[in-house]
Amino acid sequence: MRIAVVTVGDELLAGDTVNTNAAWLGTRLGERGVAVERVTTVPDRVADVARVVNEYLAEYDAVIVTGGLGPTHDDLTMEGVAAAVGRAVEEHPEAVEWLTEHGGYVAENLAEGTAHLPAGARVLPNEVGVAPGAVVESVYVLPGVPAEMKAMFELVEGEFEGTPTYSETVVTSEPESGLLDRIRGVREAFDVTVGSYPGENVRLKVTAADPETAERAAGWLRERVDLVEDGA
Ligand code: ATP
Ligand code: MG
Repeated sequence: MRIAVVTVGDELLAGDTVNTNAAWLGTRLGERGVAVERVTTVPDRVADVARVVNEYLAEYDAVIVTGGLGPTHDDLTMEGVAAAVGRAVEEHPEAVEWLTEHGGYVAENLAEGTAHLPAGARVLPNEVGVAPGAVVESVYVLPGVPAEMKAMFELVEGEFEGTPTYSETVVTSEPESGLLDRIRGVREAFDVTVGSYPGENVRLKVTAADPETAERAAGWLRERVDLVEDGA
């Protein structure tokens, strides 16, 4: 399964908020063997949300959108997603019902727009906050608040299936340019992909279709590079 993630919010683009949702989703989906092939951040603008969601819907098996769900003026995500799939946004009776039963809200007191979802969407209850999420076609719309996003993702996580891969990381004090021969060597000797991530040290991440191959390839590297023992 190949998917795209769209994070919505001016504050993400401005750097005021770090995009931890994209990182968290990437990790969780990666663990399930789902390939995240795009992470795109768009401003709080209907047309921008609509355009990328529409494009990614055509290209990927699913699109996960986070942020901009609440009833405030800058929360336009549902409108954008609805436009992407050519549907109207309307008050969703099931969302109102859930909010009144579980959220302790009286329908009349709900901020206008809170239960407005693309027509025909499946409601995703917000067990941590207020604004409900939605699934429409293969677009999953989740809140921006990280705790809410995580709880809601867990409700639908089982719908994301892929081919699991297994990774091992080897940390070395050698400079990346000096490692090219060993990186080539491990790729020739084993059926693995190798990521090289420089920083204070270089992290070499070997990924294979089964844990034994990942382990053996990592072992091969560990015997041939200057290791950083604490794995930092
Ligand atoms: P609410 O229903 O509470 O309004 P929301 O779904 O509308 O939530 P936003 O208004 O987009 O979400 O953002 C709410 C909070 O979550 C903000 O503080 C925002 O910075 C944070 N947030 C939004 N997107 C992300 C993200 N991708 N990573 C980390 N934090 C985020
Ligand atoms: Mg909001």
